[in-house]
Parts: sequence; C-alpha cells; structure tokens
Amino acid sequence: MVKIDKLIRSKRKSLGLEITPDARLIVRAPLKISLSDIKKLLLGKLSWIREKQKIAREKHLASPSEKFSDMEEFLYVGESYPLVILENSECPLSFNKGFQLVRDYLPSAQKLFIEWYKKQAYSKIKERLDFYSNLLGYTYRRFAVSDAQKRWGSCSSKGNIHINWRLIMAPLNIIDYVVIHELVHLKERNHSKKFWDKVKIIRSDYKQRRKWLKENGHILMRALD
Ligand SMILES: [Zn+2]
Repeated sequence: MVKIDKLIRSKRKSLGLEITPDARLIVRAPLKISLSDIKKLLLGKLSWIREKQKIAREKHLASPSEKFSDMEEFLYVGESYPLVILENSECPLSFNKGFQLVRDYLPSAQKLFIEWYKKQAYSKIKERLDFYSNLLGYTYRRFAVSDAQKRWGSCSSKGNIHINWRLIMAPLNIIDYVVIHELVHLKERNHSKKFWDKVKIIRSDYKQRRKWLKENGHILMRALD
C-alpha cells in the first residue's frame, strides 16, 4: 500500500502527485473524490512513486542538510539576512527582509539558494553594467553570470562580459568596482598603467575596493559550497 504523507484537497479536476526532496508523497486531489478512490488510483502509479522516492532518498543521503538551519545568516548585497524555516508556504524559497525556506525543501536548499542568487545577480549586475556602460559610452556585447571558482569577472575580445554570481553577496561598491573593471577591459585588454588610470577616473578609491575583494572574496566564493 502507498503511504500518503500529505493530502491537499482543492477545486482541481485531476490527481496531482509530488515527491518531496526527502521522499515524502504529497497528493493533490479534487474535493469530491473519496480517499479509497484516491488509493485505488495511486496503486496504478505505484512503480512511478517507488522509483521517484528511491531517487529522492539517494540524493537526500548524498547531500546533508545541516548547513541550512534556522537563523543562519546569508549575505545579499553586503547585508546579512537570517534564514527562517517555515512549515508551509507557496514558494519553496522566498526573500522578504530575510530568507524563508519551506522545511520539505531543506534537502535541495543549496540548489534553491544558488538559483535565487544567480537570478538576482543577473538582474542587479546587469543594471549596474548598463548604468556604467551608458555613463562611459563603452558598449559591451553580451552579459552573463559565470560560475567560475576563482575569477570575479572576465571580458572577452568579442566584448562579452561575464561576472561571477557570487558577487551579488558583496556590497554594492564592490559590485560596481568589478563592473567598471570589466567595462574598462573593453578599451584596455591588459592591466597596464593606462588601464588603471581609466579605472581611477571613474573610481578614485578603486584600490580600497580591490583590497576588500582580496581580503573577503574567499568568504563569498565558499559561502554556498
Ligand atoms: Zn582585469
């Protein structure tokens, strides 16, 4: 027999099944269908359920979840925000003056956090890039977030700029420094005196920002490892 971990009744017309990352079975069912009928229908899907649960259990064991605990702090644009574990919510991971994660999704917390950070990094960094690109009159070709292990940014000879998504954890002035650094590479390919002179015109305190990144960058790089 199949064990239903959570049964959610709604106005929907058909049965919906979900296997949570910790291998629990959630069944969504129409209001009028009886429990015995639900169980009958589930029998027909037994092998699918068992298979999905097996995969979920294996993944669950492979990724210990102690890392994401209540009140643990996470960085976002230079500020630290606490994580709160919720029993129930529409969205597996949300952000509102802090992070809210649904308990059922703890085993995939790392993946959810990385996805969230990448999404924010893309829009926020692109906004800064476009701002400075307009200000300087330097035109880049394409922008994407990168997943590099050591580099904060790169600028190809074709004018494509990549910036590490982990940079979204740094303060805004550090994000801006990396953005400006890569934009100046559109004009000066290497780290010559000419290059640093151009950076200096835009950000006279660039040395402090560079130093901050050297001293604290490793914390951001390892934050979600
Ligand atoms: Zn450079």
